[in-house]
Amino acid sequence: MNNLTKNEIWFVTGSQHLYGPKTLQQVDVDSKTIVDGLNATGKLPVELIFKPVVKTPDEILDICMEATADKNCIGVITWMHTFSPAKMWIAGLKALQKPYMHLHTQFNRDLPWSEIDMDYMNLHQSAHGDREFGFINSRMRKNRKVVVGHWQDENVQNQVAKWSRTAIGWADSQGLKIARFGDNMRNVAVTEGDKVEAQIKFGWEIHAYGVGDLVEYVEKVTDAEVDTLYNEYEQLYAVAENCKPGKQYHENVRVQARYEIAMKRFMENGGFKAFTSNFENLTGLAQLPGLASQRLMAAGYGFGAEGDWKQSALLRIIKTMSQGMEGGSSFMEDYTYHLDPANEGVLGAHMLEICPSIAAKKPRLEVHPLGIGGKDAPARLVFDSATGDAMNVTLIDMGNRFRIIVNTLDVVEPLGSLPKLPVASAFWKTHPNLADGAAAWIYSGGTHHSAYTLALTPDFIENFAEIADVEFVLIDKNTKLTELKKELRWNEIYYMLNGSLK
Ligand code: MN
Repeated sequence: MNNLTKNEIWFVTGSQHLYGPKTLQQVDVDSKTIVDGLNATGKLPVELIFKPVVKTPDEILDICMEATADKNCIGVITWMHTFSPAKMWIAGLKALQKPYMHLHTQFNRDLPWSEIDMDYMNLHQSAHGDREFGFINSRMRKNRKVVVGHWQDENVQNQVAKWSRTAIGWADSQGLKIARFGDNMRNVAVTEGDKVEAQIKFGWEIHAYGVGDLVEYVEKVTDAEVDTLYNEYEQLYAVAENCKPGKQYHENVRVQARYEIAMKRFMENGGFKAFTSNFENLTGLAQLPGLASQRLMAAGYGFGAEGDWKQSALLRIIKTMSQGMEGGSSFMEDYTYHLDPANEGVLGAHMLEICPSIAAKKPRLEVHPLGIGGKDAPARLVFDSATGDAMNVTLIDMGNRFRIIVNTLDVVEPLGSLPKLPVASAFWKTHPNLADGAAAWIYSGGTHHSAYTLALTPDFIENFAEIADVEFVLIDKNTKLTELKKELRWNEIYYMLNGSLK
């Protein structure tokens, strides 16, 4: 998907000349030990790069400008081993245009009670050096991640790793190109939004194409290419008998293989990493791309149905952030409820387009007519989602700002076998419970579409929202509806005013 090995995060330690060369050398050595130690954990998805300790405003400005300009540098971790007067950081922080984490750690975990003297105190003073750095960031209204604890603590290392993955997602977000095949579905409101603002805030380039542009690619796909791809389907999926060569629906499967090859080629040629479709806008295509969209999602492309470019981009970024982690991610829709008070839940699905990366078992490849839309019966993969902790993530445009909403879920086994359901699905318990979780989502203006992930946890998305400087609303086990309604009202005021603070 992405070449993660090229990504670097720079570790920058602040100090000043007051301490003299001997102490500063020790600061350098200690910082390097921390960097080597964090790299050696194997937890980080990127290489942490040690940078010599900065001691003057010029050195600070230089390193911040270098980080901003360096294509491989996706973020910076700062740490004040000693005291670094923070007026020295103002110019640098103004210049720094990469995400950054303030790691509030200390070289030694424990106090050496019997040996501690003032030299020791002067060297190991991040407890107050980092507070000085914290002040200037808050004074400048800078969004940054603060992580506190000893650098050898597993929880601290995990937080550094998660934030590093968020930085990967942010880097992927910059210049992320989304191809929209057709426009927004007629009259649907939540899938609309300000594409110029999305480019300013998230870096997304959103391009619309007539379906005819795609049809040209479809027509150029050769039968031999379709044969090869069909053979791959046979290897990966349980192909229904009536979809096999010579049978009733075999040609319908081949049509989807053609779409898959054409869409992939279209996106590779244009440098697109995400796409949308619209089942009301398929002129020239015999079927809605079902299997094709599912397969492209599994290959790492973002997808949004009905022209939903926001969820498409979000899914792509979630897939990038979770690369190599356990658990898949998919476009998803809250479809229908089980309202038995003793065992309530949500059946999530879509007309066709659920990513097989979330499948519990080998998907079945089937063809069924669509109930709506009046097109040919499309091929699709049918499966149940794997179970476990998951969340739905969505992005909406509130008119004066973007809002990202997360709802945590327990994905459980469906209560029945769903023999007649011709699409992939997931059955989940909404947090804190169905009534309050759904009400909170609805008060927040959340879409029926979302990016569903079994891989990530809310903190990844919170980190991302902070880097992007957009509103983040979390609906989880601790959500109280009364408090959430207040939060939404307070946020209205905050987002009206916050521009004037920066
Ligand atoms: Mn939909």
